[in-house]
Amino acid sequence: MRIPLMAGNWKMYKTVAEAAAFVRELKQALAGVQGVEVAVCPPFTALQTVSRELAGSPIALGAQNMYWEDEGAFTGEISPVMLKEIGCRYVILGHSERRQYFGETDEKVNRKVKAAFKHGLVPIVCVGELLEEREAGRTAEVIGAQVRGSLAGLSPGELAALVVAYEPVWAIGTGRTASPRDAQEVNRFIRGLLREMGGEDAAGRVRIQYGGSVKPDNAAALMAQPDIDGALVGGASLKVDAFTAIVQAA
Ligand code: 13P
Repeated sequence: MRIPLMAGNWKMYKTVAEAAAFVRELKQALAGVQGVEVAVCPPFTALQTVSRELAGSPIALGAQNMYWEDEGAFTGEISPVMLKEIGCRYVILGHSERRQYFGETDEKVNRKVKAAFKHGLVPIVCVGELLEEREAGRTAEVIGAQVRGSLAGLSPGELAALVVAYEPVWAIGTGRTASPRDAQEVNRFIRGLLREMGGEDAAGRVRIQYGGSVKPDNAAALMAQPDIDGALVGGASLKVDAFTAIVQAA
């Protein structure tokens, strides 16, 4: 009943020309794939071009970040209004790289999540523990604080509509994937938190992805888990063949 969402987070990769060529190829590679939703999240500079390339295709467009105000004197920032105007459906919020390098906190992520909903964007809210937190047995505590803080004050309908991406920080870009069992355990825990926050219906509908070194050879085992509803793919989403194989594993 939950349609998996396979999203490519391109991070700070691909020029406009590279992005356009990539999605032209991707559209052909994915033609006819069913039962799964696919999204690509290019850097800001390529969003408009990719949006035009994707017109009429089932592949959705997402951004990797945004600010929470509609407009104003906020040099260097991009607003939800701007993302909506150029055809974004999704926006990744609270990615661990933003938390780690750019001072993003749960409180800021929460403001962004609310702003996304105000403008009809679907937030993909990232949470995940550091290696030392996992090794200290603090995974549930850390994920619990991130989920409750980032998603505070949302309605059951909003909790049902958003996407959560569980991305253990130690698995991102390291080639070290969480085992399907460990990923399932955390995703199930997150669904339980959402049940407490928004009730049974929201918990049953919310999509919870896994992210962190998802590759063609490990995607199927991860996607087979009952509480993993898709993937947020970094490195492997930059190659048409690899991303297509991952999408087909959903
Ligand atoms: P990798 O797939 O490169 O590990 O990145 C995961 C990620 O951070 C997706 O948001």
